[in-house]
Amino acid sequence: MTFDRWNPPPGRKALVAGAARSGVAAARLLARHGADVTLCDRRATDALSEATRALAADGVTVTGGRDDAGLLDGRDLLVWSPGIPVDHALIVAARERGIPVMGELELGFLAAKAPLLCITGTNGKSTTTDLTGALLRAAGREVEVCGNIGRAICEVAEDVSDSGLLVVEVSSFQLETVEKLKPWVSTWLNLTPDHLDRHGDLETYAAMKDRLFVRQDESDWAVRNADDPAVASRRAGHGAPLEFSPTRPVPEGAYFEDGHLVTAWRGGRERLMPRSEVRLPGPHNLANVLAALTTVMPLELPPEVLRATLREYGGLEHRLEPAGSVGGVRFVNDSKATNTNSLEVALQSFPEKIVLIAGGRDKGQDFSPLAPLVRQACRQVVLIGEGAPAMEQAWTGVPAVRAESLREAVEMAYLAARPDGVVLLSPGCSSYDMFKDLEDRGRRFKDEVARLAQGGART
Ligand code: ADP
Repeated sequence: MTFDRWNPPPGRKALVAGAARSGVAAARLLARHGADVTLCDRRATDALSEATRALAADGVTVTGGRDDAGLLDGRDLLVWSPGIPVDHALIVAARERGIPVMGELELGFLAAKAPLLCITGTNGKSTTTDLTGALLRAAGREVEVCGNIGRAICEVAEDVSDSGLLVVEVSSFQLETVEKLKPWVSTWLNLTPDHLDRHGDLETYAAMKDRLFVRQDESDWAVRNADDPAVASRRAGHGAPLEFSPTRPVPEGAYFEDGHLVTAWRGGRERLMPRSEVRLPGPHNLANVLAALTTVMPLELPPEVLRATLREYGGLEHRLEPAGSVGGVRFVNDSKATNTNSLEVALQSFPEKIVLIAGGRDKGQDFSPLAPLVRQACRQVVLIGEGAPAMEQAWTGVPAVRAESLREAVEMAYLAARPDGVVLLSPGCSSYDMFKDLEDRGRRFKDEVARLAQGGART
């Protein structure tokens, strides 16, 4: 298979800016194609990972401690990592000099043989992307899930044959400079004010997402959330429209009606399965499931494969992740909930009353709008970390206790949830006051649950 999109190559003498996951993958890809590649990073060479420094063996010049315009001398392409703002001096200088500037995502697209299924939005990208990959894998398709999630697209783009598929999680940062990207399926989940510090206003942010659709033609598919006015009202590109909706029927796509997931495709409608059989909990995940079903719709996967996968699929680590049971008490790890929006959707995800473990680094959020929901959804709250006093003050009318450690919090929550309740860790705060990061917090929670299960609890 020839690389149509790679011909002519995007550059022979490339500078890749940003020596983390994406930049390293981009540098390696270009070097594999015989380009002369320099990889630079503001961090000193000593501070770069061993894998990065080892790139020298692939013929890449690794230059730490520099991100100045002088690096562009003699270069005919600048590839930037999504972590670098597009107003960075290096990018500005490249534009001034007429050197093409390309994001790592677009480079991966140019190298790919397989069609791309790209998923973007403010919330739910990782879950929807991962589930889309799971549906395709279950149907026996050759597929790689990449992008913002897992491996960079440049790392896997060439491993998938032209009969396979690349499912790509795309952040708005990665869309800032695309000029050629033409996904076969583009899916836009939702749009809420987020990252406005980087993109300015909501209109600019929305226009960024349009870039995923704008080069699509009638042979491509444009999937949009019919329930999100900001998403549904935009119509960039010529991709054939598909929609999803958790609240009402759509002409073509997937929706929720009378307790069932329904697919609408080529004039036919099929009740796929009752919502109650889908393993992923919560209304937000219903939207994500419908989005994934719509994204794979053009592939016409067998309904029984879709059903079996949705019954099985338990989601990603730290996002409403089942963390085990002790006696009749169920534990759920939602350590990824670092803000009140995520805490809100978590609290809406359980039919039974919850014992909530919340708190952590208080970023000055206002917890009071959540008070009615906390009162309605929680039997008890167990508060940890720096955010505990603010939460306690905001959530009057619900029994609250404070714990000094996560171990103590898990034990207290267990006692309050017995005999058959649910304990939810959904902190609504970042983790840095007590933990290395949110993953550390979630894993330690699971460790504490395991310890409890082994009889380590007070009774
Ligand atoms: P992303 O990759 O966009 O951050 P994730 O799938 O990792 O999305 O979900 C992150 C958090 O966002 C979840 O823990 C949940 O709180 C919230 N979330 C997920 N899907 C949705 C959705 N469709 N609408 C609103 N919030 C959502």
